[in-house]
Amino acid sequence: MNHTTVPAYAAPAAKAPLERITVQRREPGEHDVLIEIKYAGICHSDIHTVRGEWGDDGHFPLVPGHEIAGVVTAVGSGVTRHRVGDRVGVGCFVDSCRECDNCKAGLQQYCTGELGMVGTYGRPGRDGEVTQGGYSTHVVVDENYALRIPVSLPLDEAAPLLCAGITLYSPLARWQAGPGRKVAIVGMGGLGHMGVKIAHAMGAEVTVLSQSLRKQEDGLRLGADHFHATSDPATFEKLAGSFDLIVNTVSADIDLDAYLGLLATDGTLVQVGAPERPLAVSPFALIAQRKSLAGSMIGGIPETQEMLDFCGEHGIGADIEVIRAEQVNEAYERVLAGDVRYRFVIDAATI
Ligand SMILES: [Zn+2]
Ligand SMILES: [Zn+2]
Repeated sequence: MNHTTVPAYAAPAAKAPLERITVQRREPGEHDVLIEIKYAGICHSDIHTVRGEWGDDGHFPLVPGHEIAGVVTAVGSGVTRHRVGDRVGVGCFVDSCRECDNCKAGLQQYCTGELGMVGTYGRPGRDGEVTQGGYSTHVVVDENYALRIPVSLPLDEAAPLLCAGITLYSPLARWQAGPGRKVAIVGMGGLGHMGVKIAHAMGAEVTVLSQSLRKQEDGLRLGADHFHATSDPATFEKLAGSFDLIVNTVSADIDLDAYLGLLATDGTLVQVGAPERPLAVSPFALIAQRKSLAGSMIGGIPETQEMLDFCGEHGIGADIEVIRAEQVNEAYERVLAGDVRYRFVIDAATI
């Protein structure tokens, strides 16, 4: 297979700072599109992965980045979904088995086939080559795994929708955030701020539960109706039995029973954050009011397209800080310190 060499930012080894390298991209095959990357968002998962914190076997050097927005610059002879010049995005995966029940149902993120969901970086694809992510100038993906970005959305603000946006959209859609429903978003970070915007646009009554009131002004500006500090024990008394749906974006340990206490009868608490250690839950916290505890991971291709179209209609992008590629290591430190409102996006022209 022929390859083209393109520049990228990569971690040369686990825990090492990112540096500029070159990587190989395959020549577009019959069903591939070549995308000139314009922007790549920085997701917390990128940091976990390059630091080897998720127990990955470590395909280094590793180019992170699964919030990709760019423009199609070449297409294979069999491509029908995209044309040269189209604005497209790539999210957390670039392939899956395409044959299992989940893939057929458009739930590629839950692929149960042998290939599984092929992550956008650090995973062997169907050709055996390890994928390299979006902190780069170009990427080649199968046309079925590239999404259309509506013209109403600037590409820099759209990039984070490909992970942060769909991570929140999927549970909000599945558990019917909408008019007459009371929804709480736990955490006001990269994920949480998208949850506020999307749940508000869906018509729900939105409450932010954040550690402090530091981001209250932002939360209300982004569409929250209420904002409460979880560091204040009175919050849990005041809001007991209040919510139809709580989406927890926090990956730190939390007192699940306390949050389940905030749900109304038949309410659901959905975990999208992934703490390292198991969380304890008292069955009585679920039984007493027929409550549910659930999880959700990104979204499939059809739902990701639905999310982008929804965000296009409602003018929803991420709140971002655009950085130059050489600032990426500094940006990682700031993400870890919670010092970003609310997503860093790398300008790929600076790579
Ligand atoms: Zn992500
Ligand atoms: Zn599958």
